[in-house]
Amino acid sequence: GGFQSMGLSYPVYKGIMKKGYKVPTPIQRKTVPVILDGKDIVAMARTGSGKTAAFLVPMFEKLKAPQAQSGARALILTPTRELALQTMKFTKEFCNEMSLLFSRMDDQFAALHENPDIIIGTPGRLMHVIQEMNLKLQSVEYVVFDEADRLFEMGFADQLQEVIRRLPDSRQTLLFSATLPKLLVEFARAGLTEPVLIRL
Ligand code: AMP
Repeated sequence: GGFQSMGLSYPVYKGIMKKGYKVPTPIQRKTVPVILDGKDIVAMARTGSGKTAAFLVPMFEKLKAPQAQSGARALILTPTRELALQTMKFTKEFCNEMSLLFSRMDDQFAALHENPDIIIGTPGRLMHVIQEMNLKLQSVEYVVFDEADRLFEMGFADQLQEVIRRLPDSRQTLLFSATLPKLLVEFARAGLTEPVLIRL
């Protein structure tokens, strides 16, 4: 199974080809169809496995569908600003192709007058933006907790609970993590709906 057999639309497929990806990595092969199917997932994946594309490719596919209500549609939470910037770089290439807007949650958020479709950043920064700018998460359809074990290690547990509380129940939620400590299993149990566990 290559990318062409995943049922992706032409703009998304073209974006992948532009990146020079010829075949999906094992984690992409396992997660992309399940995510496209609308399921919540807990995926055990490390940096270097191709996990970023594993959640971004189906996200772009989903964002091609018409929006039900105005506001941000996808939220990607990362443990560090550096990881947010890497994820943003990938996102930007696709956004240019697909006329989507994204925002990182630093000072540029304030400078961005348009409402972004995709928000990328750390939970601490997200809570700050929510409070400072009265950002609402009610329209969010697609949520990713990237490097979730590190999100917890870095002390974001309270912010993560607070973010979950503000999200609509109808969302699709994805959790990517290298390890699955008990705390994270409990978080997934409370914040995800019948997640499919994917491991290599
Ligand atoms: P990640 O695990 O998301 O940090 O990705 C690790 C590296 O693999 C990044 O440099 C990606 O651009 C690259 N990558 C991801 N998916 C593929 C693929 N299907 N084919 C080739 N390279 C890939």
